[in-house]
Amino acid sequence: MQITFLGTSSGVPTRARNVSGVALKLPQRSEIWLFDCGEGTQHQFLRSDLRVSQVRRIFITHMHGDHIFGLMGLLASCGLAGNAQEIDIYGPPDLAEYIKACRRYSQTHFSYPVRVHTVQPGLVFQDDTFTVQCTLLKHRVPAYGYRIIEHDRPGEFNVAKAQELGIPFGPVYGRLKRGETITLEDGRTFNGQEFVGPTELGRKVVYCTDTVFCESAIELSQDADVLIHEATFAHQEAEMAFQRLHSTTTMAAQVALAAQVKTLIMTHFSPRYAPGNEIELKDLLAEARAIFPQTEMAHDFWTYEVPRRRIKESPEPAAESTELPSPQKTPPQKSRSTARKPKVKSS
Ligand SMILES: [Zn+2]
Ligand SMILES: [Zn+2]
Repeated sequence: MQITFLGTSSGVPTRARNVSGVALKLPQRSEIWLFDCGEGTQHQFLRSDLRVSQVRRIFITHMHGDHIFGLMGLLASCGLAGNAQEIDIYGPPDLAEYIKACRRYSQTHFSYPVRVHTVQPGLVFQDDTFTVQCTLLKHRVPAYGYRIIEHDRPGEFNVAKAQELGIPFGPVYGRLKRGETITLEDGRTFNGQEFVGPTELGRKVVYCTDTVFCESAIELSQDADVLIHEATFAHQEAEMAFQRLHSTTTMAAQVALAAQVKTLIMTHFSPRYAPGNEIELKDLLAEARAIFPQTEMAHDFWTYEVPRRRIKESPEPAAESTELPSPQKTPPQKSRSTARKPKVKSS
């Protein structure tokens, strides 16, 4: 399970960063699930090791252009290249209408099945290996956060041990594998638990953008292995974050802390923090790490392998009520110099 960032800028692309796009590669099934598809996402695929023909599902957070303007180009190219299988797209209510209108006015015909699903808070997708859920975040238009849950896998069955004990091969092996207790004809009894290795814990990845600090993001992110959360602004620009309903680094870190995630990866940075400006991205990273040390900062083409938790850990004791530093408590400082900063409207 690998996460590759295809775009990490908010609103507009920069030389180093494209607009939003995150690829989740599922090697066990040769599939890529794409989260958001800003303009140029198909070009980012060409520049990466990922194959666009492996895209099987696309999850759209909201209808702002920096998250959807690459969708039609990518879908059209998949058809022309002739190697698309089928694609299911999930997103807010207006998405189906948008794709329908684009197809109609550009007379685009897809040569493969493209299905658009309108999501609602709750279950989005489920099969025998994965569950995807979503929740409404807090942005200027309806925006959904997604939680991808890999199901736990039962531990490996120790066939050699069963054979050594002279358990005759047959349906009892299946029952032992399921952890049941069996009694053989010769009267011997065996507990299946002793033949099965520790449960392989499924991984949980959460994607929250675009949003200001909100409780629903914390709920969605509970105990995630990885939380990808937007951090459009530095802490001192909290006022602007509240106005535009985006997050600061400190908000992202507070969500990670409250949800007790393993790793926070920040993305969707305002282009104003380009190198040489008064505040740079390294300052944003320091701000978040002061609250949540296991924070990383995404950049385009960075691939993060989500580590597996092999052994089922005993459930942690319930956390005491954690007093969270409220994002509002610290008044944002006045910007030291706004004149030099490029005026960029983030969407
Ligand atoms: Zn955005
Ligand atoms: Zn937006």
